[in-house]
Amino acid sequence: MKVGLFGANGRMGRVLIEALDASEDAHLSVATVRDDSPWVGMNVGELSGIGKKHIDCSGISSLKNTDADVMIDFTLPVVFESNLAWCVENKVPVVIGTTGLNESQLHSLDNAALHIPIVFAANYSVGVNLMLSLVRKAANVLGGTADIEITEAHHRFKQDAPSGTAMAIGEAIADELGRDLKTCAVYGREGKEPEREHNTIGFATVRAGDIVGEHTALFADIGERLEITHKASSRLTFAKGAVHAAQWLSGKPAGLYSMEDVLGLKE
Ligand code: NAD
Repeated sequence: MKVGLFGANGRMGRVLIEALDASEDAHLSVATVRDDSPWVGMNVGELSGIGKKHIDCSGISSLKNTDADVMIDFTLPVVFESNLAWCVENKVPVVIGTTGLNESQLHSLDNAALHIPIVFAANYSVGVNLMLSLVRKAANVLGGTADIEITEAHHRFKQDAPSGTAMAIGEAIADELGRDLKTCAVYGREGKEPEREHNTIGFATVRAGDIVGEHTALFADIGERLEITHKASSRLTFAKGAVHAAQWLSGKPAGLYSMEDVLGLKE
């Protein structure tokens, strides 16, 4: 399988190059950066620190000559719509990891999925996707009485908060409890506040150093509490998951798929 990459120079782009190099079945066929990027012409292996490989980074306009079977996009919301439009126009399936999308961008994603197969996940690690099933179960058993709080920590460069994964955990819990996350979420607390309202789901964010990604869902009652925590120690876990998703996507009909679909975790 030939895989094309958007944003090859990003933190995720570099580990995706590494994950594709290690894969037996999926191979990098084009690695794009901005047309005006200083990385155009840089060897992908040297970029990701794995030694010289047979592909150099090319400007995004080189995509018109690509024969990629699937694209992988871990970039930023600012470039999300144009990457997606290219995939739809050229009928190339895409695996998307970009987080922090707004309502209108999520709407574009739904529309695009009418034309091409797409995997979209806020987190491509196996552990986090298992965590989504576990928090549903915990919500089902404890959610009636326990207070629910989600905390997350990431590196100092992350540009969206709370993380897409924290939001996905919140959505899973709210869905299980029949609540609407839009109305029951509380983002951060400061100063004098009234007592905690039981039906809320709280979010707290830490940004520091080089933390790859940590998430905890806390279910706290009087007398006991349950914490479900996932800690990623390497971005390679997300990259390997995305490559796995790209292979899984091959031959699928148009539609919007999740990593839970890819891993067969949906009940
Ligand atoms: P990064 O800042 O290191 O990389 C961003 C990439 O986007 C770079 O390649 C950059 O060149 C490109 N880009 C930015 N603006 C652009 C523009 N205007 N035109 C073209 N390209 C542009 O970020 P990162 O840490 O690699 O993370 C990338 C995305 O992946 C973020 O949204 C992050 O939250 C998300 N992420 C998702 C997962 C997951 O499992 N789904 C895991 C980690 C990170």
